[in-house]
Amino acid sequence: MSNLPSEPEFEQAYKELASTIESSSLFKKNPEYRTALAVVSVPERVIQFRVVWEDDQGKVQINRGYRVQFNSALGPYKGGLRFHPTVNLSILKFLGFEQIFKNALTGLNIGGGKGGADFDPKGKSDNEIRRFCVSFMRELSKHIGADTDVPAGDIGVTGREIGYLFGAYRAQRNLWEGVLTGKGGSWGGSLIRPEATGYGVIYYVDHMISYASGGKESFKGKRVAISGSGNVAQYAALKAIELGATILSLSDSKGALISADGKGFSPADIALIAQVKVERKQLTEITSQDAFKGKFKYIPGARPWIHVGQVDVALPCATQNEVSGEEAEALIKAGAKFIAEGSNMGCSQAAIDAFEGHRKGNQAQGVWYGPGKAANCGGVAVSGLEMAQNSQRISWTAEEVDNKLKDIMEACFKNGLETAKEYCEPAEGELPSLVAGSNIAGFKKVAAAM
Ligand code: GLU
Repeated sequence: MSNLPSEPEFEQAYKELASTIESSSLFKKNPEYRTALAVVSVPERVIQFRVVWEDDQGKVQINRGYRVQFNSALGPYKGGLRFHPTVNLSILKFLGFEQIFKNALTGLNIGGGKGGADFDPKGKSDNEIRRFCVSFMRELSKHIGADTDVPAGDIGVTGREIGYLFGAYRAQRNLWEGVLTGKGGSWGGSLIRPEATGYGVIYYVDHMISYASGGKESFKGKRVAISGSGNVAQYAALKAIELGATILSLSDSKGALISADGKGFSPADIALIAQVKVERKQLTEITSQDAFKGKFKYIPGARPWIHVGQVDVALPCATQNEVSGEEAEALIKAGAKFIAEGSNMGCSQAAIDAFEGHRKGNQAQGVWYGPGKAANCGGVAVSGLEMAQNSQRISWTAEEVDNKLKDIMEACFKNGLETAKEYCEPAEGELPSLVAGSNIAGFKKVAAAM
């Protein structure tokens, strides 16, 4: 019996990976990797610290800060910081664990880590956020470095927070180095980093659509349901619109915004939503605006999945476990053929089981699920490219970075696909499991390096 406290999110992420590996032929072919799975499931180091800061009323506030340095076999620990009241060690361990294999799938030399705090940026002033970031970095700066551990953003940590954190690091360590990614353009950030996760999801799904249809179909004319309205959802929506798709939904933690006239969101609608998010406000702020009247209906307390009607592609881009088993079944009934996670562990295990159950059989009718650690690896991949640019003291053009991102997403898709064919032996005419293939491909690379 284990004497460790229960860590439900981490256990879910571990079981999801381990179950696909165990039902493949990997351990038969490489028995030594069984030990590697046990080793990789324990973080190399967990740092937990106190963050004391002063609010605008001069009152002392206390939060818990963390950095999980999970695995450095492939390179410096790399992964975002999440600032959200739900943050605890189980959530950061699940995110750090996913990050190890996701980072391996980018093909770059980056290890896996994750960090954050149970701090809620919502409703805080810029000055409060800055004071929190300076205090958070006072401890974190002792443990990170351009060749040691390179954090970036995640939920609640945008370019603004990265700016405060980077400024604090420079001041505290008297050192300019590429210690954080997602930085502003004028001080070492990479072009396309803000867009990278969302664009990358769309590039990945484009390969899924093309493969499944034998090259006959693309995003053109596809009806796409998206959850979330942050950076990932916004840029996924914009790229899908550019490729000819209709975006049926977006959402936030308080409710879902659904296209009511069938025309979907325009780039101008998304720009308005982006502005509301910068102001750290809810989507309800815009539903009353004239530009939105008649075009959208707002459903309080809802997630989009059962409300979007007929749909071809579903992209969870909000947070973990945002698609239940029933919602997955409803999406399948509504016609969803391609599901890919912009969020980390967006689908519950019941949802994955539903999608995977409908994958089997005929390729033309099969439902295909692209797991987050493959589909959303574009964000951390461009973070890796930001590290490369910082080391070389040069900046690449947007086109150069975007082309490299496209290549990485294609390689990641093909890697998962070919690995599934090799280790999971799909039946004739059946879509290979991208979840099993990506898990095995990512794990194999890390296990070999360890
Ligand atoms: N938070 C993002 C992720 O989940 C990006 C991490 C990074 O750029 O280091 O992959």
